Amino acid sequence: MTTRVRFAPSPTGYLHIGSARTALFNYLYARHTGGKFLLRIEDTDLARSTEESTRSILDGLAWLELGHDEEIVFQSDNADKHRATARKLLAEGKAYRDFTPKAAPNDANVKDAIKDRARANQGEKNMRDNPYRDLSAEESDARAAAGEPFAIRLKVAETGKTSFEDAVYGLQERDYRETEDLVLLRSDGHPLYNLAVVCDDIEMAITHVIRGQDHLTNAHKQVLIYEALGVTPPTFAHLPLIMAPNKGKLSKRKHGEVVSMTTYRDAGFLAAAFRNFLALLGWSAGEEKEIYSLDELVQKFSLDGIHRSNAVFNFTESDPRRWTDDKAQWMNAEYIRTMPVDELMPFVKPELKSAKLWRDEYEDDDKAWFENTINLIRQRFFTLKDFSSQGRAYFSEDYDFDPAAIEKNLAKFPDLKTWLPELADRFESMESFTEPEIEEVVKAFTEEKGTKLGVIMNGARTLLTGVAVGPSMLSVFETLGKDRSILRLKSQVVWNT
Ligand code: GLU
Repeated sequence: MTTRVRFAPSPTGYLHIGSARTALFNYLYARHTGGKFLLRIEDTDLARSTEESTRSILDGLAWLELGHDEEIVFQSDNADKHRATARKLLAEGKAYRDFTPKAAPNDANVKDAIKDRARANQGEKNMRDNPYRDLSAEESDARAAAGEPFAIRLKVAETGKTSFEDAVYGLQERDYRETEDLVLLRSDGHPLYNLAVVCDDIEMAITHVIRGQDHLTNAHKQVLIYEALGVTPPTFAHLPLIMAPNKGKLSKRKHGEVVSMTTYRDAGFLAAAFRNFLALLGWSAGEEKEIYSLDELVQKFSLDGIHRSNAVFNFTESDPRRWTDDKAQWMNAEYIRTMPVDELMPFVKPELKSAKLWRDEYEDDDKAWFENTINLIRQRFFTLKDFSSQGRAYFSEDYDFDPAAIEKNLAKFPDLKTWLPELADRFESMESFTEPEIEEVVKAFTEEKGTKLGVIMNGARTLLTGVAVGPSMLSVFETLGKDRSILRLKSQVVWNT
């Protein structure tokens, strides 16, 4: 049997980290088993579902490159089928019409009656306590024919339990007494969530339902519907929750952008790195390794490797420099640093373009120089944004100076104001401008001035790149080249401010 899994987001917001991880695990499982990965937009909550949010979810999936097979299913398109299923269960006596007026719970008498009955049941609510549950078919039909509004509820048996083997959490059991006669269809004809999910999963021939652990209770309700329909339920695999750093619930409202996928795309994360990070939020292949290509993830992924304990998304709300999970940042840096340069280029180009730092020569005449430069500067970068911010001095004469770097490396050594232009003069006479020759010249110059190599190099770094840290200064000189190095060493802009 071919595996068929689905990702079934409700379009009531952007794609957040929890849903993205659910989508990824479904995708990996489908690819690992040679099955199909389907997408279903659960847009039945008409008040809260928006097209914008559907688009944003699709954008997020596209960014993560989690392509789905087959056409997207929109749950609202299936409402008639959901209604027909509810009616079928009603006709078979597996569901019943509940004529309880909508306003009833607000009615003081009804409330008292419910309380009295609860007391009689020693505080335990009797889930079968519905006056319409055992109404005769004739009376039920007659009242419906007379136009009295009703909801359709599943008739859950008095005794017994639902049980299923969750692929992650193991055997799950729940006494029928804990589950009410769930509403399948509201009195306005609106199919309820659990009915819709079961009908669609059957129709889409879903074999494995992989989703957040917050749906475990729903799974029991869904099993009841499967049983009423006489259909074997799919295998359930519930995923551990992803918690906030304080182990509280992660929420879109409270944690805002830090949990949205678009934030990572816009902040210069590589989809490959973020996917890798997501894969390890609640799953492992049982080895030390942490960097996995997509192919490796597909090959190694299994439901057995999913953890039962909750994962933590470790960001520091109060510290903007640590605005997201350290590991996510580390992983992104690792990808940027180690990815083959030609694979990184398609991401660097748009970044430089958007900052107006791109030149077409970088793809022909200056290709070798450009690739070397990218290779040099990426060693300390965390995101793609760094190529246009921290890396700006390599692609433009118009770059900023970090005041702290000026203070530390230039202002403290006033001699550099004349020394650095003097060093530039020494560079003028050099025939070939490569690292060993530059080193020789700078060393001789340093000795002559009776200072430390660090003083000259750090000062030069700040003038040439605007910052206090970066690649080896000899490589920086060579990369920027003789002319630009001279120009910048001679510039008095910084000294005059
Ligand atoms: N629409 C549900 C959600 O976004 C998922 C339902 C399911 O996967 O069964 O949480």
